[in-house]
Amino acid sequence: MKIAVIGIGAVGSVIARELKMLDYDTVLFGRQPKSGFTISEAGEEHSYPYRIETMDAYQGGSFDVVFVAVKATALRGISQTFHHLINEETEVILCENGMGYEHYFDRPVPAVVYISGQKKNDRIEHFQDATLLIEDTSRPNIDRLITALDKHPETQLEIKKSEDFERIRYEKLLINLGINSVTALSKNTSKIFELESVAQLTRAILEEGVAIVNSEREIVSPEFVDRAMAIYKNYNPEMGTSMYYDVMADVKTEYAYIQKHLHDRKGPLETPVLDVIVTLLEAYQYKRGY
Ligand code: NDP
Repeated sequence: MKIAVIGIGAVGSVIARELKMLDYDTVLFGRQPKSGFTISEAGEEHSYPYRIETMDAYQGGSFDVVFVAVKATALRGISQTFHHLINEETEVILCENGMGYEHYFDRPVPAVVYISGQKKNDRIEHFQDATLLIEDTSRPNIDRLITALDKHPETQLEIKKSEDFERIRYEKLLINLGINSVTALSKNTSKIFELESVAQLTRAILEEGVAIVNSEREIVSPEFVDRAMAIYKNYNPEMGTSMYYDVMADVKTEYAYIQKHLHDRKGPLETPVLDVIVTLLEAYQYKRGY
């Protein structure tokens, strides 16, 4: 079996490292060729000397499974340039937060990503988890891979299938909607949930988000808002979010696939808080050359 990982950042490096333990041909792709990467975990650093190459220079044929672990903002570009890596049977697993990018691909397999980490220059800090959740449908190449991962005594990567995938994916979107919005726009970490005003604002964002998700049928229970607020309050106060780190690093955010994705689907619903959030996130990257 041939496997590709595109995007060797916080998420992709952990996927790549674990897949490299299997007896498969796994090829890693980045924006620039490199001779390896370093992951730090619980204060210990390990370097992995796996070659990273560029997609355009690759002439080794197509893959059975391709993991795409770039930011959602890079997906459209990948979908237009990776045709030589895929065939009709290739399973393309999209390891991104957010929604609304699936149509760039022919037969995508979106995954809910439970891998927490952060890329800082050339070093990746892996905080916790190595799980991808996908919909419970028959995908022969992925099924073979799941069996191989399950049988391997050391690999930590788990690909789990869920019959409740739609709800879980929307709940992850809503979790990101709430916390990414307030941490990015305040440029502060999870400690802001100690402020009652921030908690109230976040609750209002979530209530609007749940109303949009449930506008045609109930997918997420309204009680999810309480659960999400409890989750935020349990986070380490120093923990940021991907959108917070993007804003701090002055780079483009994934807001088009989180806040704007929901806002574009609000229909006749009144969403005064989300209206402001989307306007400010759009203004943040306006004419900044991203
Ligand atoms: P990173 O920025 O750490 O990694 C993305 C990687 O993709 C970078 O190494 C980047 O290279 C590379 N890349 C960008 N464009 C291309 C390209 N055209 N070809 C090949 N490689 C490319 O992002 P994350 O890993 O943090 O995030 C990936 C996705 O996972 C996002 O959607 C994020 O929201 C989601 N996610 C992240 C979590 C986390 O804890 N980090 C948790 C759950 C989900 P370069 O550095 O050169 O730009």
